Amino acid sequence: PSNLDPNYTFDNFIEGDCNSLARNAAKAVADNPSQTSFNPLVIHGNVGLGKTHLLQAIGNYISKKFPEKAVLYVSTDTFTNQLVSSIGSNTTNDLVNWYQNVDVLLVDDIQQLVKRKKTQDVFFNLFNVLRQNNKAIVMTCDRPIIELDIEDRLRSRFQWGLSADLSMPALETRMAILNSKASTNSVEIPAEVVEFICFHIQHNIRQLEGVLNNLVLHKGVMGNQGIDLKLAKEVLKNFVSEINKEVTPDVIQRTVADYYDLDVDKLSSSTRRRQVVLARQISMFLVKEYTDQSLKAIGRMFGNRDHSTVLYSIKTVKDLMETNDEIKKALAELERKIRIGQG
Ligand code: ADP
Ligand code: MG
Repeated sequence: PSNLDPNYTFDNFIEGDCNSLARNAAKAVADNPSQTSFNPLVIHGNVGLGKTHLLQAIGNYISKKFPEKAVLYVSTDTFTNQLVSSIGSNTTNDLVNWYQNVDVLLVDDIQQLVKRKKTQDVFFNLFNVLRQNNKAIVMTCDRPIIELDIEDRLRSRFQWGLSADLSMPALETRMAILNSKASTNSVEIPAEVVEFICFHIQHNIRQLEGVLNNLVLHKGVMGNQGIDLKLAKEVLKNFVSEINKEVTPDVIQRTVADYYDLDVDKLSSSTRRRQVVLARQISMFLVKEYTDQSLKAIGRMFGNRDHSTVLYSIKTVKDLMETNDEIKKALAELERKIRIGQG
């Protein structure tokens, strides 16, 4: 068994600055496994950034293009377990022979070699045999090889080939990844929700999939309602702690004041300057939208105005949003800033 998962391919691996060296090196090995100029290829990067995906993509690609080649994917843990049980049953030679016969060896998570002296020894010999016979070896690691605490002779061999690192994709690439996963799963997510999710998931691509799966589950429970910002926020609470910070009237006032280049104090002053009045009305509207403050409480925080003034302000902003494109745009921008301001 090759242990390949057909869901991980080059086609569904989204390329960006964060991964193009690793991706192109992986593709080069896959295109020409018997004459690879990087042997071994080591792909390293933090958890959840696509190491296993790329490794599996190499395997799947080779299996298709060169069906006669024996491709084997194995995690270092599995390799260790196989070794341990072969020692127990006196079949280590069989195991080693079997591994020596593969054409392409894909070893995931070699940081698991640390502190496993016996596995390192066996792997050292296997590595030499395969490499002498021009068999391709690709490995992944959660840190650069130089930081890997293993036997010197093994570490120096791992450095003979090419090391390529994976880092966290920029926002646009994260959005492309989420869109791609959503469409694979036939899930529709509005663009603003995709941006919101990707803005907040900043360290780990696997979490994007977690969020997507959760959205689908929530949607299932909530009936046929679409995926919107509110649902996304609910789901993100389980992934990003900052999301739990509530939007406060204070954040809203500061964001609006900043946007209109005013002192925050002006919002609760008695000034009737047009720009200030507008900023004040928009702030009241947003406080009502984003917090559970009563009209009376809102009036109080904007310079002791009464609740009918607040109500009138909210209505004014609603009307403006329908008739005035500039205001509509300003509000969209403000809402984005307020949401992101939580992050
Ligand atoms: P690692 O092995 O580095 O911990 P994985 O390969 O398991 O990470 O990747 C985690 C998830 O993120 C996988 O579902 C993978 O498909 C996805 N992923 C990571 N990078 C990309 C990318 N560039 N394009 C598409 N999916 C990606
Ligand atoms: Mg992995």
